[in-house]
Amino acid sequence: MIPVKSAAELEKMRAACQVAAGALKAGGDAVRPGATTADVDKAVYDYIVAHGGVPNFKGYGGFPGSACVSVGDTVIHGIPSKTQVIREGDIVSIDTGAIVDGFHGDNAYTFACGQVSDEAKRLILTTREALFRGIAAAQAGGRVGDISYAVQSYVEAEGFSVVRDFVGHGVGRELHEAPEVPNFGRAGRGPRLAPGMTLAIEPMINEKGHKVHVLGDGWTVKTTDGGLSAHFEHTVAITKDGPEILTEWQVDPWK
Ligand code: MG
Repeated sequence: MIPVKSAAELEKMRAACQVAAGALKAGGDAVRPGATTADVDKAVYDYIVAHGGVPNFKGYGGFPGSACVSVGDTVIHGIPSKTQVIREGDIVSIDTGAIVDGFHGDNAYTFACGQVSDEAKRLILTTREALFRGIAAAQAGGRVGDISYAVQSYVEAEGFSVVRDFVGHGVGRELHEAPEVPNFGRAGRGPRLAPGMTLAIEPMINEKGHKVHVLGDGWTVKTTDGGLSAHFEHTVAITKDGPEILTEWQVDPWK
């Protein structure tokens, strides 16, 4: 059963998503050479609480941070640490969300710290474009597989690979709701999309192979071959007039 939100509930979603988007920008602003991933997490936390939200990642399944901060070959779920220093040339994925008035927003973005390699830059741009192609495919009357196919076909044509083991999801009263939104699959398959559904669409894209593994801390997901990974996510509402990005931002990844 995929939850459908009323107009009033979508208003609450918008409020939560705006706090999530601002928190993501605050985290990105904290990405600089010499900063720790804990510094990024603190910037995110401070923004959320200052804007009336509750950090929904903090304590989720025991996760200690308000943001996942994933550097280099870490795909997702990087645990913020006071000893992990961000360096010039790193790519840093930040994933964060907030609860406002009982509803969740969720979003992610990969930032470049200073000058990054041409391949890292291409990976970031491809992942961001994949997100927007996935969003464009999120049309009422279509299927979840339309999103999946839009992401996968574009990414693989660019020579990168799509993570299989983790997927996007519905979001609303819960951080993770039905349906699952894979970044791979066939158009015309999967649950049908209807106005009022709210989805976290989030391509996780690897420079090399798609395989990933979880470290012994139970959270950190890394590429198995050591290639770089990027991650972009928006919370999107399906409307009769097309997809509406609730976590809309205007952030320059190169700062
Ligand atoms: Mg998500």
